[in-house]
Amino acid sequence: MEGNRDLDLDPNKDDLPLRANTNHMLVRHYVLDLTVHFQSKVIGGSIVLFLEPGVGSSKQGEAGSISNTPVQNISRVSSKHDVSSPITPEPNKVIPPEEPSCLSGGNDVSSVLWGDESEEFTLVLDCCDLVVSKVEELDVTTVPDLKKFDIDQQYAHKDHPLSSLVQRLVSMPSDCWRLQHELYVQCSLSPTFHNAHPLRFHTDHWSLQIRKEGVCSPHNFPCAVRIWYETKPTGGSVRWTKDQDGRCCVYTMGSPINNRALFPCQEPPVAMSTWQARVRAPCDYTVLMSGENQAFPKPAETGFLQWDYYVTMPMPASTFTIAVGQWLEAGIKDHNFEVEKTYEPSEESSLSLDKDNQEYVCSHMDYPCRFMVNAARAQTVIPHRVFAPPCHLQKANDMVLPLLPLCLTAAHSVLGVHPFSRLDVLIVPSGFSSLGMASPHIVFLSQSVLTGERNLCGARLCHEIAHSWFGLAIGARDWTEEWISEGFATYLEDVFWSHVQKFGCREAEEQKQLKALLRWRRLSDELQNSEEQLQVLRPNKENTGEVSESGASVVKHALNPEKPFMQVHYLKGYFLLKFLADQVGEEKFLHFFKVFVGKFHGQLILSQDFLQMLLDTFPAMSSRGIDLETIFTDWLDTPEMPEWLRDACSEWLRTPAVQEVKGEVAKWIHFSGSGGKGSKRKRAGPKVNFKELSPEQLVLLLEFLLEEPKLSLSTLRLLQTTYNLQTQDAEVKHRWCELAVKHKHTAAYRDVELFLIHDQAMGVYLYGELMVQEDARQQALARTQSNQVSDLPGLQSHVQLRELKQDLTVYCSLMLREKNEWTIQRQNKTLHI
Ligand SMILES: [Zn+2]
Repeated sequence: MEGNRDLDLDPNKDDLPLRANTNHMLVRHYVLDLTVHFQSKVIGGSIVLFLEPGVGSSKQGEAGSISNTPVQNISRVSSKHDVSSPITPEPNKVIPPEEPSCLSGGNDVSSVLWGDESEEFTLVLDCCDLVVSKVEELDVTTVPDLKKFDIDQQYAHKDHPLSSLVQRLVSMPSDCWRLQHELYVQCSLSPTFHNAHPLRFHTDHWSLQIRKEGVCSPHNFPCAVRIWYETKPTGGSVRWTKDQDGRCCVYTMGSPINNRALFPCQEPPVAMSTWQARVRAPCDYTVLMSGENQAFPKPAETGFLQWDYYVTMPMPASTFTIAVGQWLEAGIKDHNFEVEKTYEPSEESSLSLDKDNQEYVCSHMDYPCRFMVNAARAQTVIPHRVFAPPCHLQKANDMVLPLLPLCLTAAHSVLGVHPFSRLDVLIVPSGFSSLGMASPHIVFLSQSVLTGERNLCGARLCHEIAHSWFGLAIGARDWTEEWISEGFATYLEDVFWSHVQKFGCREAEEQKQLKALLRWRRLSDELQNSEEQLQVLRPNKENTGEVSESGASVVKHALNPEKPFMQVHYLKGYFLLKFLADQVGEEKFLHFFKVFVGKFHGQLILSQDFLQMLLDTFPAMSSRGIDLETIFTDWLDTPEMPEWLRDACSEWLRTPAVQEVKGEVAKWIHFSGSGGKGSKRKRAGPKVNFKELSPEQLVLLLEFLLEEPKLSLSTLRLLQTTYNLQTQDAEVKHRWCELAVKHKHTAAYRDVELFLIHDQAMGVYLYGELMVQEDARQQALARTQSNQVSDLPGLQSHVQLRELKQDLTVYCSLMLREKNEWTIQRQNKTLHI
């Protein structure tokens, strides 16, 4: 059980450290070579890092690159960024190691002998819960193809021929990416130097530190380093579990510690890198991963297949995702997308750059970008596949597979070129703690979106697809500014989804207002019942994006146990965009998104990059008193509900779709109020005609009814049969279960039970509500479930979850009513389970 992991976290220190010294050296490329062992629940093998000492140094008179230069003589470069300027993800400049002091000797890795004050340069990698066995420097001069290169004078370096070779390799132009990847593989297989000692290393709770004897500057530090390691079964990055058919699987679970318990890496988002991965898994398993290519497995050692994936677009290591299980592909007989030519960036296609199109001048670092390729820009639907365990294959086939091309088309029509060349969607095990999670080339989807009508599934797919632009192709440079991905994806989810539904203007507007009201209610609840410091969208305010001299930083509140249950970044961020859209009109606003994406894709941004460009594009806004300062003050830097929002909800309440719900609520309350007459009426035939409602309307109806202190038993019974509540989507079912729990409607406890088993991402919080209630029978039911359900990951690992989505609403609606008791209960669960 991982429950005790939570205890390691000091509640007073809920900030997540990012230790990697990216200002000294940057990882440009990873080559992973791993084997998945299901019996021991271990992933083991090696990772090769291709490193670059800050680019600034070689252009600055080489002072730092001469060994034994006293560090005091090297000019220091501030790592502070000019926050007003757009950010390009250029590697930061080299800064010498921290203050030198007495040299600690020996190769011992114990912390006593390691010495934090060593004169030697220390490469610090983010790492947690990994068993590192060896770290070695690679002799890349043994790679004949690499030696064939004419040494470019720019990188030629008499003292460091080896560094020169690696620098030449990492700096190859993007149209040679195939050759580059081939060379990366060859280099990753190179031997160590003859008679060379392994590099010294030391691990602590959050980092892996590496030194080479006598090397005091990053310029003399090895640029190709191989680390041999194994993951721990309880490590917080991957989850070992069973799929819905009871077969073993493992996947990255979207933990706040990201991938640092999967491979040692540089976590700060500025360390954008490419990767290649060879993963071996038993023959009957499928390996899905963040990779541009669809991997075709090749035979490896006995009983194993190997899968090779790669990416050519530099991205933060945190976005790497893997899932290994006995998944099946939905609709495989149709081969419906194989006729479509898979786009892969290649030397040939990248020649057809459309240089006349001003909209697509890329400002990011050089990589084979789809925005510059005509064929890629015209591709409305990218190649896509859907994977699921056997028991969900039919639903995946019927629900997800037909929706995917519709959602992809909608996204393309709003934002333009898809930043990624393909997409796999995986129905993840029932224990996954969110309705969805987006990573490059792969989306995890909870089975909870497979029931009911297609609304929940479609909207969720739209949300995850929107992350391809906001969250992945454009990332937050400061992780605390989560609204940059979640607020945008929530806003775009509605836009895409109304495209898919082919709504007319009025219909689309009505649905958006209904959703706005539901979100307003959720936000309002959350703001009344959470810590103020967690309600701020830009917690670092004017210091946003700042890092220490070495490049290390901490992510504020990232490990706060309340944090995964907060939806404020989704909701307040969404409302900010809605407010801004109101100022300029939605059509112009969405066109601006497209232009913004054209300019900033492939880069990391801060809130002001988006807002300033918007204000510059629409100068009329500032004449109405809306400027950067007021947006920061009203929306991003302060807790609580922004003023505009306090009044906005009255408008949404007047929406016909909402009025309709209110009319139905009145009927239900009247029906309930007539008490025992229900049975008589029933005998006399139905007296009340209830209207048919959309799933969103139904959610609102049940929420309104949840506010009623009393509802008669016959009302609850009739509610269930009128709307067939047990066949509705998970959002509706959740409210129904809440009603059943609130009114101790024992006849519906079976529904609650099923919800707890099949909708664990949401149900786990309902479990909390059951525990909060004093009713002994409810508690017994909840306990039974916790024993029956194979694993309730939300209970053990909720603290580690970074991307929780819909399930938060469940928690919030619970917490809001019973906050103190709930908190206590939750802590107890963590201890006992
Ligand atoms: Zn580009």
